[in-house]
Amino acid sequence: MGNKQVLIDRAEAEFYKTYNRFPVVFDHGEGVYLYDTEGQEYLDFGAGIAVMGLGYNDSEFNEALKTQVDKLLHTSNLFYNEPAIEAGEKLLKASDMDRVFFTNSGTEAIEGALKIAKKYAYNKSEAPLAGKIHDHEIIAMNHSFHGRSLGALSVTGNDHYQEPFKPLLPGIKFADFNDLDSVKALITSKTCAIIMETVQGEGGIYPATEEFLKGVKALCDEHDILLILDEIQCGMGRTGTMFAWQKYGVKPDVMTVAKALGNGVPVGAFLASGKAATAMGPGDHGTTYGGNPFVTAAASKVLDIFEKRNLTDHVKEMGDYLGEKLAELTGQHQMVTGQRGIGLIQGLEFSIPVSSIVSQALLEEKLVLISAGTNVIRFVPPLVIGKKDVDEMIKRLKAVLDQQS
Ligand SMILES: *Cc1c(COP(=O)(O)O)cnc(C)c1O
Repeated sequence: MGNKQVLIDRAEAEFYKTYNRFPVVFDHGEGVYLYDTEGQEYLDFGAGIAVMGLGYNDSEFNEALKTQVDKLLHTSNLFYNEPAIEAGEKLLKASDMDRVFFTNSGTEAIEGALKIAKKYAYNKSEAPLAGKIHDHEIIAMNHSFHGRSLGALSVTGNDHYQEPFKPLLPGIKFADFNDLDSVKALITSKTCAIIMETVQGEGGIYPATEEFLKGVKALCDEHDILLILDEIQCGMGRTGTMFAWQKYGVKPDVMTVAKALGNGVPVGAFLASGKAATAMGPGDHGTTYGGNPFVTAAASKVLDIFEKRNLTDHVKEMGDYLGEKLAELTGQHQMVTGQRGIGLIQGLEFSIPVSSIVSQALLEEKLVLISAGTNVIRFVPPLVIGKKDVDEMIKRLKAVLDQQS
């Protein structure tokens, strides 16, 4: 095992500097605990940014990966493979969508979703002439996050992320999340899609209100606009239903998933239903790795385990418990100003920036927490946590908060 500081120095000398990392080198994990190279144990309420839904080192999941490694890793999309067919069927069944395309990341799922919207508008136009600009306007939300590629960044409502990379995609307008009138005001005859997270993650853990989501869906139907729901963070059971929109009874035309879909294996997907499901045709989109047998064997196993272990019910129960405990903290500490979320995607809002709390929790209390925006701590633990893990997390967090005040 390498010396921690030596490893960190090597990392800082080699990696392109786009992250300020915490001075911890993780080595292995077990359940909801991570262990660093010095053997220290950490309770993890970040799950690698909402990825490790099943927690670390799940033996059934690991066995499925090992079996597939020995069989076949990759073939390209020039051919069929069975794990992809299996995973696709399971994902369509869980979502009631009609078509699926596997990607390598969340960002790429967003790219695909945006291309569906553009192609749908293109197909609709009366004379799809070369060079003509088709209905291409997309309405996105302020404080949203959809990824860092140029397309995904274009619909990410964060000036700080966008500014150095302008000009981005033309025709993108930003409305206020949970403000239906602000969306209505931006619709024109050229609008082809509305994109939003069902629960804003990065922006501070804001669930859509039912009125807002239903209102946006009605606007989309009225104007023949595609509704794209980004479920990359809030999907895959995190809110206590397989996908967050299932709680609202609003089905999107296009949906994106990633993060917990592969439980650490990089795989995402975009899914489409109804009229959106046939908008793109052969030649319109592609990927070399996307949907290869290795990553889809992972996704397939994740979906099996969700069903077998009834994880969504477990999330409901744990989410209620976590919500209660976080709400209690809100009354006890002056700097905690609010609590919100659904299931195991919860946020605690502070009157001060949370960076020092997050870093003290990690380094002194061995508790992994992540922030969402400047003033919010985000709780997105492995979905397999128990009540004792919640109690332990609260105990460690309290110790940090007591020192801060
Ligand atoms: C993480 C995230 C993305 C980007 O996914 P990557 O896998 O990092 O490309 C997009 N949308 C939401 C809501 C996310 O949380």
